[in-house]
Amino acid sequence: ARTPLIAGNWKMNLDHLQAVAFVQKLHWTLKDAKHDEDSVEVAVFPPFTDLRTVQTLLDADKIPFALGGQDLSTKDSGAYTGEISGAFLSKLDCGYVIIGHSERREYHAETDEIVAAKVQAALRHGLVPVICVGETAEDLDKHGASAVPVSQLKAALENVPASAEVVVAYEPVWAIGSGQAATAEQAQDVCAKLRDVLAAELDADAAARTRILYGGSVKAANIAGFMRQPDVDGALVGGASLLIDEFSSIIRYQK
Ligand code: 13P
Repeated sequence: ARTPLIAGNWKMNLDHLQAVAFVQKLHWTLKDAKHDEDSVEVAVFPPFTDLRTVQTLLDADKIPFALGGQDLSTKDSGAYTGEISGAFLSKLDCGYVIIGHSERREYHAETDEIVAAKVQAALRHGLVPVICVGETAEDLDKHGASAVPVSQLKAALENVPASAEVVVAYEPVWAIGSGQAATAEQAQDVCAKLRDVLAAELDADAAARTRILYGGSVKAANIAGFMRQPDVDGALVGGASLLIDEFSSIIRYQK
């Protein structure tokens, strides 16, 4: 069985001091609620400048959250001003790195080729890539929901060995930050097709083992519906991951 993964993508929010207060409060809130830590994996994706501070806190207070970066360089080191190597993320105990978020694809012109190169960079440094795919409203109109995410995932998995651990996040662009989430059935439909891509590009075992998340206006009120779907194994949460009560309710969706 796949362990559910609830991931908070903070995007460009919370400086390193705010991050400490937030992570502590979230941990206490879950403890107070007697949340069963083993039932669901929690991961946070702070800005790069917060990572060292959050790492230190997680370690010192034995807080069982996984940590990840929001992006990484295709390169490992060198004259690439402003870039962050996967090696640096690994050193900070990051287990994960988000790759190909629609905001990177849109505002930083990340192509499928760049996304594939970043997936390779993540794997070189022992990071689990959280590969984001999703269609825009225009794609949805023209090609239906699954065509673009399917082709984006195929491209991202090029040269990925079947034994690699990856996470896939299906995030319809029209659902991100819009308050208009996909329905649980829409998410299930695309996630099932993405699992078929995993089977075809990797193998049946990888398809069975890999977690596929839904993202896009996830909140406490809709998480349970997504989690009931057989091919949805968790959520990549943006706005609601910045609100203690909302995010802790999402993590405790079984209650
Ligand atoms: P929202 O949850 O704010 O819609 O953002 C989703 C997202 O982009 C997570 O990566």
